[in-house]
Amino acid sequence: MKIAVGGLIQESNTFSEAISTLDDFKRYFYRIGDQMEETLQAENELAGFYRAAREQEVTLIPTIFAHAVSSGKIGRRMLDELKAVLFEQLDRYSSYDGVLFALHGAWVAEDCDDADGEILSAIREKVGRSVPVVITLDSHANVTQSMVDQVDGLIGYRTFPHTDYAETGYRAAKLLFSIVRGEIQPSVRLKKVPMIVPAENHQTYRGPMAELWAEARQGEECGVSLATSLFAVQPWLDIAEMGCSAVVVGTDPNLAEEEADRLAAMMWSKRRQFEVALYTVPAIVELLADPQAKGPLVASDSADSPGAGSPGDSNFVLRELLALGAERRYDCLLSMVDGPAARKAVSAGAGRAVKLRVGHTISTSVGSAIDVEGVVAHVGNGAFRFGGGTVAGLVANMGQCAVVQIGRLSLLLMENPTFTGDPAMYRSVGLEPAEANFVLVKSANQFRAEYERLTDRIYILDTPGASTANLTRLPFRNIPRPMYPFDDSAFGKPAASWESTS
Ligand SMILES: [Zn+2]
Repeated sequence: MKIAVGGLIQESNTFSEAISTLDDFKRYFYRIGDQMEETLQAENELAGFYRAAREQEVTLIPTIFAHAVSSGKIGRRMLDELKAVLFEQLDRYSSYDGVLFALHGAWVAEDCDDADGEILSAIREKVGRSVPVVITLDSHANVTQSMVDQVDGLIGYRTFPHTDYAETGYRAAKLLFSIVRGEIQPSVRLKKVPMIVPAENHQTYRGPMAELWAEARQGEECGVSLATSLFAVQPWLDIAEMGCSAVVVGTDPNLAEEEADRLAAMMWSKRRQFEVALYTVPAIVELLADPQAKGPLVASDSADSPGAGSPGDSNFVLRELLALGAERRYDCLLSMVDGPAARKAVSAGAGRAVKLRVGHTISTSVGSAIDVEGVVAHVGNGAFRFGGGTVAGLVANMGQCAVVQIGRLSLLLMENPTFTGDPAMYRSVGLEPAEANFVLVKSANQFRAEYERLTDRIYILDTPGASTANLTRLPFRNIPRPMYPFDDSAFGKPAASWESTS
């Protein structure tokens, strides 16, 4: 059995002013051909593919595995370059028995709403219709009919914060091997749900997604489904085929369809449970004054989350903290993407006083730079290894970075965005989140995997940005209507009979 294996993983945010380039992949995770096998230390989908292949003595043919921090749309030329590398690798052999591929599922190009679907079409063109293809997706995928039509199996992550990247790869590989051996011939059924809900409440260990997963597992246990996936789509995509979804891979197409319908209806019924409480910065500063409180207060500026494709360059929280004088009273840790300011601080050097303009180098429509004065406390090359804040074992690349001390406030400036939800980020520059009074992360929910070990004082901020939880603030124009929360019409009726209540 000869299986082509690879992955192209990035999440897009169509409201973000950032445009993604190939460098975003090259500086994060970019392996071609045999390099892929040399870097299996990260607990990603690839590790799971290889684990299953070793167990079943299957030969994997590596193609390309590239992963980038989320961003705005990807440029057309960049997408074509990635496809060309994939084709070149696939062309090393004339035929395959199957294809295993990892995608995010919410990847948008400048001129294509469904970059993942485009990659799958390209793979299909190369290997032919009869070769089984199984993919993995992030559970924030916007699953399209085109994706489903082109695969023989599809499996999403089951956890959020995501911790099952490798496990998902492992399950997908086993599914593909069974299909290639002719043991099963599954159908894939997709049911879209006309709702988008804040990612801040997509976690799978409590709340609505946990309840939905309990139902999904029952369907698998009674044999209706071989593999069920629930996709609470990341909500920052203003595109035509947008929505949450349930996908069921089953041997009986009718039962699979019924199960997808059942779970989709249940997801819709829980839509209001996803609402999330948002706090202003002044409200958070009041909470900091509580003398009884234990552990750091962790606040998320999720509206500016690089993990959700925002630039990570907002200074909104810094500006408000300084206006309230918080830097005189509390040890605060903040981070910000600002290449020019980071480079200026690095060239000044540790121990030197600096005057900097910081913020909104990319998101110019969201805010503008402010002037700060401080002392450079640390300079570095910006590399750190993730623990559990994202794919364990992957190495982040913040580029040149510096910590600027403004009173008791430590501002980490970096050239490149990174996932900010792992305390390893601050620790890599000599800052200890557990000992701070206030820690800012820019992450919807993934940060909880590590930060909930440090504290139970966790709050989501009401701030401006491309990945705000306050979805009605975003200028959606292209999504299908009705769509919750903009409309709250009855799901399941023909679209024509849906009544808008907004
Ligand atoms: Zn995700």
